[in-house]
Amino acid sequence: AQTDALLEVNNIEVIYNHVILVLKGVSLSVPKGGITALLGGNGAGKTTTLKAISNLLRSERGDVTKGAITYRGERIQDLSPAELVKRGVVQVMEGRHCFEHLTVEENLLTGAYTRSDGGRAIKDDLEMVYDYFPRLRERRTSQAGYTSGGEQQMCAIGRALMSRPETILLDEPSMGLAPQLVEEIFGIVKSLNEKEGVSFLLAEQNTNVALRFAHYGYILESGRVVMDGPAADLRENPDVKEFYLGMS
Ligand code: ATP
Repeated sequence: AQTDALLEVNNIEVIYNHVILVLKGVSLSVPKGGITALLGGNGAGKTTTLKAISNLLRSERGDVTKGAITYRGERIQDLSPAELVKRGVVQVMEGRHCFEHLTVEENLLTGAYTRSDGGRAIKDDLEMVYDYFPRLRERRTSQAGYTSGGEQQMCAIGRALMSRPETILLDEPSMGLAPQLVEEIFGIVKSLNEKEGVSFLLAEQNTNVALRFAHYGYILESGRVVMDGPAADLRENPDVKEFYLGMS
């Protein structure tokens, strides 16, 4: 496991509808300033893990029935998403979830709703987001629902940035995007990590791209972590190569 953890997930179990055991004792840690990848195929439990962390399972009849989740050493399991955002943790959901009828800029501004530092700082951060995502600046007055899939993914990440997070939980950023756009988005994640010091936990099915950008990876299979290690080691691991990178 990694040391210097900001976020720690310790042996959690998640059950849906009181009967379906989906996470069977998942442990992982996310250090400050790192990009940590949560890998695994369809249905392995990546989204469930992220939703357990951000306390979004309740509405899907899911419960964390065992284990602990802490951030900076404090239990966060019962916090509302808004309280979690105030502590510095924000989730970007799978499938992007922009408000389709709002403009790109209005979407970004909704990300700042928990802040109390007001006008000037928020304006500066809007500029910061546009500097990272020049396409969003060009599309600032467009209705989000009419922008491309890549732009909506950027908008979702940009909105998360507007809360000035310390850690972003990013669910499947590559989903449905052309390879070139995936590279562009991961490149921006990397520079946000390096320049703004944002820590990331990113769930990805695209092992290849995730292990090129992440520092550390966890591989989930059927609700269990079956392997973890520095990304460079995982990339060279024969089993990872065969089963996840399609090389053998
Ligand atoms: P994907 O990339 O497809 O989202 P994943 O690794 O994120 O996959 P999860 O979405 O966490 O996987 O799903 C893990 C398992 O939990 C799957 O078997 C899925 O069918 C089941 N599951 C997910 N949500 C629910 C729910 N609300 N009720 C019952 N079972 C669920």
